[in-house]
Amino acid sequence: MSATPAPNVKNPAPAPAGTEKISLYESRQQIYPQSVSGRFRNIKWALLVGGMLLYYFLPFLRWDRGPDLPAQAVLVDLTNGRFYFFGIEIWPQEVYYFTGLLILAAFTLFLMNAVAGRVWCGYLCPQTVWTDLYLLVERWTEGDRRERMIKAKKPWTPRTLAETALKHFLWLLIAWWTGGAWVLYFADAPTLVKQLATLQAPAQAYIWIAILTASTYLLAGFAREQVCLYMCPWPRIQAALTDEYALNVTYRVDRGEPRASVKKAIALREDGKPAGDCVDCGQCVAVCPTGVDIREGLSMGCIQCGLCIDACDNVMGKIGRPTGLIGYDTDINVHRRAEGLPALKPKLVRPRTLIYLALILGVAAAMGFTLATRRSLGCDVMHDRNPIFVMLSDGSIRNVYTVRVLNETGYERKFYLSLAGLPVGKLSVMGEPAGGGKGVPIIAPPNQTLELRVTVTTPADAQLPQSTPIQMVLTDAKTGETVKKGDYFKAP
Ligand code: SF4
Ligand code: SF4
Repeated sequence: MSATPAPNVKNPAPAPAGTEKISLYESRQQIYPQSVSGRFRNIKWALLVGGMLLYYFLPFLRWDRGPDLPAQAVLVDLTNGRFYFFGIEIWPQEVYYFTGLLILAAFTLFLMNAVAGRVWCGYLCPQTVWTDLYLLVERWTEGDRRERMIKAKKPWTPRTLAETALKHFLWLLIAWWTGGAWVLYFADAPTLVKQLATLQAPAQAYIWIAILTASTYLLAGFAREQVCLYMCPWPRIQAALTDEYALNVTYRVDRGEPRASVKKAIALREDGKPAGDCVDCGQCVAVCPTGVDIREGLSMGCIQCGLCIDACDNVMGKIGRPTGLIGYDTDINVHRRAEGLPALKPKLVRPRTLIYLALILGVAAAMGFTLATRRSLGCDVMHDRNPIFVMLSDGSIRNVYTVRVLNETGYERKFYLSLAGLPVGKLSVMGEPAGGGKGVPIIAPPNQTLELRVTVTTPADAQLPQSTPIQMVLTDAKTGETVKKGDYFKAP
């Protein structure tokens, strides 16, 4: 009698081809990136320190903005819808500057991609920078890769509990500081710090700090490489934009394969058999923050951080082989090497990079020019439509206008409003005394738009056509800076 064999639970027999169950959910493999030292690691540390210092301390940089605004170099004034960046001041009607900045950011990203692939992801993206910082804390509290892997398999002990608690405390501290720094961009930083410390800050500040603390803690502490692999759209966009001349972190297959340990490679070579330089030590995979094995080729998971280059160079240095088994190289060279052809020098200057550079310089120059010639005063005129003119009892004709005077400085300013274009006619501002030869004096408060009701009156015998072009002229009493705005004087 033949007995049906019991299923091997530990090592189930493979399902017949084509009948395997495909799961749409891939469970996450915990990654324990190992610390590494080297050229690219140092560049990343320098960028991390520079970026963090800039982010945390920029709100404390002072800049005189007049008596009514915080003396802050970088300030987002949500109440009045204004943005201040050192000498640049952007009002709501100048939202095109933000459009310009977004276009600049996009083309810069494209240029970076054309030169060196996902270099943004590997070195500058906040997700990478904060994850690096969190990993530093993790290694400091719980140990390096090997130690953490061993601890993860063992039951909790008071020591591991204390280490993990310290890690989470430090993570939360960094996350809280990140959120805290963010809100300082929206108010006077030193004042807000005092208010936060004495629990007297506005509720919105606490809410935003809580939101940013939670998101930093979750994204840098837990989601980590998952953000790069699944959440961020840039890898997909980048993959569509790249070309074969872009530099990417690449494993030199022609040099590394076939892999063999140092001893085995010597034996193989003595036998006249081929042996590559890769000793299959796995260091390049161990240091990778996204768990990629770069030897398998270019991968969507690779953020081009260069840490595997450092790891492999260290290994090559120790075994006395030339470095550069992993390095930045182009796709074109990968193919040339596979065909036994010599590698080409990286071609940084090519139509694609030149076009991106030209677009960046063009947009930057246009923005720079408009900012340099930007006026600190403005004037808008709106003619009353109903009635379009009024005939007074003495036969004179009056037109009424709404004039908006913009004072885009932090100081109170005196202007003169006068009229040009009418051979006869008198301009008056309702509620203001009559003006002299220079025009009607106006006092405009700092950083505000002043709305005026203005009348223009012509005598009964003026004999004007139905529509006469006129200009309202606004002149700064101190500097003489002038702005003119055209409209029409209407008559019967
Ligand atoms: S494969 Fe290398 S360059 Fe790519 S993410 Fe991993 S360590 Fe960084
Ligand atoms: S670090 Fe270098 S030698 Fe070691 S496995 Fe990676 S490519 Fe091979």
